[in-house]
Amino acid sequence: MFAGHFGLAAAAAATKKAPLWALMVSTQLLDILFVPLLLGGVERIDSSEGSGYGEGVIHADYTHSLIGALLLAFAAAAFAKRRWGTSGGWLIFGMTFSHWLLDLLVHRADMPLLPGHLDGLPLMGFGLWQSPYASLAAEILLILAGLILYGRSAFRRSSVNGTAARAGWSTLAMGVCLIAALASDWLGV
Ligand SMILES: [Zn+2]
Repeated sequence: MFAGHFGLAAAAAATKKAPLWALMVSTQLLDILFVPLLLGGVERIDSSEGSGYGEGVIHADYTHSLIGALLLAFAAAAFAKRRWGTSGGWLIFGMTFSHWLLDLLVHRADMPLLPGHLDGLPLMGFGLWQSPYASLAAEILLILAGLILYGRSAFRRSSVNGTAARAGWSTLAMGVCLIAALASDWLGV
């Protein structure tokens, strides 16, 4: 769901409430923080079912717990509110937490309620990854929706200030980035 998260960031960029880089980072914040915890052995990926697209069971018990994700979203929102105001803060909160919601859709049941799975309750995840083509279709829908909203907003602004070529190039660049993200997702590179 690497590309799908970026698709949502592209869609949110149309609101102009926060810069594109902040939207990109916030939609991936949980996975960004997962990397050092993975390297440190605190969180891990169980690849016993395979290491292809969506085949791993991800034990990200801190970054991808429901309460952990909400706390990270509030922290990101507090950072954003200082820079881009209240609406920017809420947008960054939504983008950060959207990662958990989209992951809930695709992950196998490996997402806990409390950090460290302290609650011991059943793990969550609807497991769309078990149908690779269905989850690929969901990602394509997200990046298409994101690209359309991003392009529409860019061209609408360009009709005001006469920069249609720039809008075209920025939409093309966004499309290339989203497709590259989808390819790397699918190929696991
Ligand atoms: Zn994730």
